[in-house]
Amino acid sequence: MPSPPDDVCPRPEHLPRLGTQPLSPPLYHAAVYACRDTGQAAALLAHEEQGYVYSRDGHPNADMLAHKCRLLHEAPEAIVCSSGMAALALAALATLQPGDRVVASNRLYGRTQQLFGPELARLGIRVITADGTRPQPLIEAITPGTRLVVVETIANPLLEVADVQALAAAAHACGARLLVDNTFASPVLCRPLELGADLVVESLTKIMNGHSDVLLGVLAGRSEAWERVPAVHTTWGMAASPYDCWLALRGMGTLALRVERACENALAVAQFLQGRPEVETVHYPGLPTSPYHALATKQFGARYGTIVSFRLKGGAQAAEAFISGAQRIPFSPSLGDLSTTLSHPASTSHRLLTSQEQEALGIGGGTIRLSVGIESRAFVLAAVEEGLHAAGSIG
Ligand SMILES: *Cc1c(COP(=O)(O)O)cnc(C)c1O
Repeated sequence: MPSPPDDVCPRPEHLPRLGTQPLSPPLYHAAVYACRDTGQAAALLAHEEQGYVYSRDGHPNADMLAHKCRLLHEAPEAIVCSSGMAALALAALATLQPGDRVVASNRLYGRTQQLFGPELARLGIRVITADGTRPQPLIEAITPGTRLVVVETIANPLLEVADVQALAAAAHACGARLLVDNTFASPVLCRPLELGADLVVESLTKIMNGHSDVLLGVLAGRSEAWERVPAVHTTWGMAASPYDCWLALRGMGTLALRVERACENALAVAQFLQGRPEVETVHYPGLPTSPYHALATKQFGARYGTIVSFRLKGGAQAAEAFISGAQRIPFSPSLGDLSTTLSHPASTSHRLLTSQEQEALGIGGGTIRLSVGIESRAFVLAAVEEGLHAAGSIG
């Protein structure tokens, strides 16, 4: 008797026998796997046998992406999370206990400040913030009771560069670990583990994936800092979707090319802005006039990142004119897309601060942050020029 559709359709398929390897990675869109018998199930769940059971604990697409990140950072360990924030939360939850003390730069990404602030305070973890524009205030805040030190390789939005080697030495001298958020640099510019950091986070949402179509993060690190990471990752439910991992692996195929082109464009934009009468200050570590130029050259080689920030002389009004005049640059408060985009920190990432607090960080109503894309240099300069023209014609 032929099987009725009721019994054919819902049945699991067998994978075709593969005599060859696909050149591009398949998408394993499975939440759960079928075990041969109880012995295999027990061995898989105890990690005595390699394989997959339940995709919150691990799946092939996350593992392929994590493997790529391990190679990029020469990291013994790496694990993919559902967002950059999940990766930061994982680093905190896996290394800290109530009563611990954390030293954090005061220039962290806004959400990271919330995490290494009120959120960890709720768990009885004390966070001390120090001026992150220079190594000394952070180093002075690190004492023998410090468990974790948190900085960004290149900070948002004014692109202050952290001296990873000096901070790692100071942290280790007090028995603390150094966690570096490397999102703005990417492993093309910097591998913080090589410079002494213990843990590295990247928001893969940004330039790593580069196509603004997934939200993902990665935590990479040394084995000594890894003990609790896998258990915290699965217990707190930080797993990433197979499809997002598949897309990010595809996006990362062009990472080195994209970063190279965008860094060249960014340097050209920074030089162009520096010579313009509408512009008060330009922040870019690639400019010889930047106080971070020597450190950036030492840490990153001959590339200085894909983000350029600048302040317009005409303040918030000039920024508004720039944003509406720069028709070809989307106002999109993220970064790392293929396309050049811009953000206005005072009204987006730093909107919860008072204008005095913004000024204390060096941010004004006239501050614009450009995430420079991979278009031709001529296109990017012309698109910026349109904004400057509009900003210059007000008042
Ligand atoms: C975007 C970003 C994050 C957070 O990453 P999500 O993927 O958005 O959760 C963390 N740090 C920096 C520097 C970022 O730019």
